[in-house]
Amino acid sequence: MHKSQTSKTTTKPPVKEFIVETPGAMKQEALRGFIFDIQGHSVHDGPGTRTTVFMNGCPLNCIWCCNPEGLFRHPVIMHKKSKCVCCGNCIESCPYDAVSITKEGNLYFNRGLCDVCKTHECLDTCYHDGLELNGKFYTPDELMQKLQRDRQFWGAKGGVTFSGGEPLMQSRFILEMLKRCKKAYLHTCVETTSCLPTDYYMDAMQYVDWVFTDLKHMNNGEHKALTGAGNSLILKNIETLAKKPDWDGFIVPRIPVIPNLNDSDENICATADFVKAIGLEVINILPFHRLGESKYRQLGKVYRFAEQKPPSAEKMCHIKKLIEGYGLVCFIGYETPF
Ligand code: SF4
Ligand code: SF4
Repeated sequence: MHKSQTSKTTTKPPVKEFIVETPGAMKQEALRGFIFDIQGHSVHDGPGTRTTVFMNGCPLNCIWCCNPEGLFRHPVIMHKKSKCVCCGNCIESCPYDAVSITKEGNLYFNRGLCDVCKTHECLDTCYHDGLELNGKFYTPDELMQKLQRDRQFWGAKGGVTFSGGEPLMQSRFILEMLKRCKKAYLHTCVETTSCLPTDYYMDAMQYVDWVFTDLKHMNNGEHKALTGAGNSLILKNIETLAKKPDWDGFIVPRIPVIPNLNDSDENICATADFVKAIGLEVINILPFHRLGESKYRQLGKVYRFAEQKPPSAEKMCHIKKLIEGYGLVCFIGYETPF
């Protein structure tokens, strides 16, 4: 059945602003963080075995992003075609007339409506796991309980890693979580864009032991073209943190290596030069991959990198040698000795 055959009137879903990231906002409501994944037993996101918490929201919009569901700062519906049996329940249950079936027989979600929908009536009527939200709200108590349960699996060196998206974006929630983790003697790590106001960035870092920070391109214009924002704030924040005398954390700059976009010798050398100049010793290079491709389809988005290939092993070794030429230690991928 095509949606146009029904008699429902098309109305826009009620929109409620997602404001948990705004300092001082939601004072009248319980503090909650919006989280799109929690992975236990993680061995690539810091020292030891860890629990990695993936938080929604990001100040950048990188064209190669492998976690597109994390870019939304509010719940949106994801349609899993591989599980959908085209039963039509979601078409019937949507009060906003947002779902239809195309001439080719595929389910079509009107993203202009679904991406601002706050009610998600369709979700409860799908009995085949064809629909799912891109995240879940947790209070600090709920998340702490989960972390404390995982603690027994971490061993002596492990802890919690906050990733994303940009984990520092939901400012009140993450500050509360970092403080609670420190109070409970949990080792804390963040994987960050470092693209945040400096005062706030430095405030949060007081409670962080390890920082993995991206350095996507050293040229401001190129950085803006690839990510939607320039790099001056990012460089300033990393340098300010690296030179803070009373901060005894550890910083690992990371370069996501994207063929033909940021893998030139010139950019790699400029990155190594910067890292060396601010007194850091390590760079981690991560080869581009396409693991997030199916999530773009589930969100009804176009994946702009379908034809992009990962860098060759030879290219990664070449970049490693360039970086080592600056007297820095370079790790490829997740083969880190942490
Ligand atoms: S999310 Fe579900 S209920 Fe909301 S507009 Fe889309 S199909 Fe309708
Ligand atoms: S309710 Fe679920 S299985 Fe049925 S058409 Fe919608 S997504 Fe597919």
